[in-house]
Amino acid sequence: MCKYPYCKETEELCDTNHIMIGKNKYHTVCAKKFNAKKAIRELYYERVSKTVVFAQLNKTINNIIDDKDVSPEYFYFALRYAINHQITINYPASLYYVIDNSDIKTAYKKFTQKKLNKEVKAEPIESKEITFTIDPPKQTGWGIFGG
Ligand SMILES: [Zn+2]
Repeated sequence: MCKYPYCKETEELCDTNHIMIGKNKYHTVCAKKFNAKKAIRELYYERVSKTVVFAQLNKTINNIIDDKDVSPEYFYFALRYAINHQITINYPASLYYVIDNSDIKTAYKKFTQKKLNKEVKAEPIESKEITFTIDPPKQTGWGIFGG
């Protein structure tokens, strides 16, 4: 059984279609969402606000990824972009404006296109700017990040 609490996949887990995080099995897409949420929470905490109300932040992130079905890669990219371009994020709800920002959408299009071109040319991808992995997250032991 997939451990992702908001799992929408219908495919049953077997040996080839899952990713382990800790001792738990996840669908590949669910693992991606799980790790993206963690990365987004941490980035928000580190770079936007250390006094953020986590219940609010988690609710917003869950809503964007699980209800609105925004791609976790895009969401993470958009937050990074907003921080790097000093786009104001006053509170978690600002994330709705961030993901809807047309400059960010354009930048993401360019970013994915560039990535695609490189893959086609089979050149090594220099994605130092934005790295996104679905490796198991390291344990921080911070209860406040749960969710
Ligand atoms: Zn799942």
